[in-house]
Amino acid sequence: MSKNHLSDYRKKRDFRKTSEPAGGREKSGDKPVFVIQKHDASRLHYDFRLEVAGVLKSWAVPKGPSTDPREKRLAVPTEDHPMDYADFEGIIPEEEYGGGTVMIWDRGAYRNLKTDDDGNEIPMADCLENGHATFWLEGEKLHGGYALTRTGSGKDERWLLVKMKDDAADARRNPVSTEPRSVATGRTLEEINGDAE
Ligand code: MN
Repeated sequence: MSKNHLSDYRKKRDFRKTSEPAGGREKSGDKPVFVIQKHDASRLHYDFRLEVAGVLKSWAVPKGPSTDPREKRLAVPTEDHPMDYADFEGIIPEEEYGGGTVMIWDRGAYRNLKTDDDGNEIPMADCLENGHATFWLEGEKLHGGYALTRTGSGKDERWLLVKMKDDAADARRNPVSTEPRSVATGRTLEEINGDAE
């Protein structure tokens, strides 16, 4: 996973054509934030993003997150996104990079759970560099601990996103299918798209 640079992000996009943000803002607030964007591109996936050192570290999760600790969800690393992207919901023109509809499926603050032997927090950037991060999500749909673990390296770099065992773990809940609407606007993908009745 590359360092905190937005050059890959900017290189892939033509900001005269897409309404996605070019970036500028580097801090969200007191607590770091996460956002999960449902992205109906050539293939539907969920973009999982964590605020780390002024950018949104990003992974594409084909099946979306689970609330069942037994489910390991593949997370493919993608380029860092600017902080402003956390507020983006809309349509990327079909012929542009990532063309399709983007919905803010969940968002909220998160807390880094990784500490060293003395109880000091290990910075999230270091956790990701080391290939293992644990964090507590305070979303509208997702709550509690999650772990991201790297498998493979180089072009085969992949991660697994797994719910940790805690009070918010629930094998029967399946928010990806039962809670399909935007937490920002209450809209479905079809409504954002303008296809709805
Ligand atoms: Mn995407």
